[in-house]
Amino acid sequence: MKKLKDKELCKLVKDEALSESLEAFKELVTEPTHLCLKCGRVSNDKKRLCKPERLD
Ligand SMILES: [Zn+2]
Repeated sequence: MKKLKDKELCKLVKDEALSESLEAFKELVTEPTHLCLKCGRVSNDKKRLCKPERLD
């Protein structure tokens, strides 16, 4: 299993990182704290989203 690059999930998905680093990806979307306003993705690390908005 490859390690995730230090980029936004939004971009990583296009590089097929989701299938290549599924376990690392799962950790970033478990119990999400932020939502990406541009892509609709969620993550527990706002640095991993291109347009993060805090979830209430
Ligand atoms: Zn995004």
